[in-house]
Amino acid sequence: MNRRAADLPAGFAGRVVRWQRTHGRNSLPWQDTRDPYRVWLSEIMLQQTQVATVLDYYARFLALFPDVRQLAAAHQDEVMAQWSGLGYYSRARNLHGCAQDVVALHGGEFPRSAQVLQTLPGIGRSTAAAIASFCFGERVAILDGNVKRVLARVLGYGADLAQAANERELWGHADALLPRRNLGESMPRYTQGLMDLGATVCAARTPGCLSCPVNDLCAAHREGRAEEYPVKTRRLKRTAQALWLLRARNRDGFTWLEKRPAAGIWAGLYCLPVFESREALRAALPARVHSRLRDGEPFLHVLTHKDLHLHPVAIEVPSSSLRHSGGAWFADSDLQQIGLPAPIRRLLQD
Ligand code: SF4
Repeated sequence: MNRRAADLPAGFAGRVVRWQRTHGRNSLPWQDTRDPYRVWLSEIMLQQTQVATVLDYYARFLALFPDVRQLAAAHQDEVMAQWSGLGYYSRARNLHGCAQDVVALHGGEFPRSAQVLQTLPGIGRSTAAAIASFCFGERVAILDGNVKRVLARVLGYGADLAQAANERELWGHADALLPRRNLGESMPRYTQGLMDLGATVCAARTPGCLSCPVNDLCAAHREGRAEEYPVKTRRLKRTAQALWLLRARNRDGFTWLEKRPAAGIWAGLYCLPVFESREALRAALPARVHSRLRDGEPFLHVLTHKDLHLHPVAIEVPSSSLRHSGGAWFADSDLQQIGLPAPIRRLLQD
């Protein structure tokens, strides 16, 4: 059963606001501020990443780039280095581009409305709404993955969210559920409350319905079918890929690294040269050094939708054997200063 806006449960927003005050998360470091730079940074870091992981990165990032102007002025390599290990590196590139646009197009001040925030790189509709709601109290709905789950369950919304028309309809319901009046703190607290409900109570598997503040309003709970919502049929298929990594060191013990292209896996990061086969790796080296190639232990690195089977191949070569405009020799002590994919950093630290 899909609900129309007229069937939305009364009192939902008030419940969420009251519950957040007493049971929500209120002591995270980005919650004691309405500074849009800090809120934006936390929102981007929290996409696809757990709070516990973000805490360290957030503190380090702010120490190095305390405001949007300093982030905009940084070199992209510096930004990528600080992001190294958080994954989804397009976020870091967009973060840097967004900071530059805020400075160049908005005089260093984040726009105050969700509609304008959405025009900046890496800021989607839900993230824009979260920033506008938290920092400027705008009455505007969010609909990230956690919130989709909560609302689909509360409403018993069983239409397939893989279809854009259905997702648009759920956005409409999210708008209709907003607090009627935005008195002082209610919008930020409502937005945070929905996020907290999704993250801490209404889990994808085994939701904690007994302790949920809206359980008597929740259609999915009433039907005893919470786990069946939301419905999304188009799931990305997992794939696997084998890659060979050339771990070349010169006689001074420096490692050869190349900058990855701007699109695709590990885009924009420094990395060992990557090849799709052992033959392709050999072909990149002069024939006279092939007998010195040593196969390392292959290892698995799991991405969200892909298993990478990585095959390191080591060699010691004279510096002149490798030349490439996007590559350079790096001392071990330089590796902390550059953005490296997490599995490559681990491999080089072994
Ligand atoms: Fe989620 Fe259960 Fe609460 Fe419904 S009652 S919103 S399914 S936790």
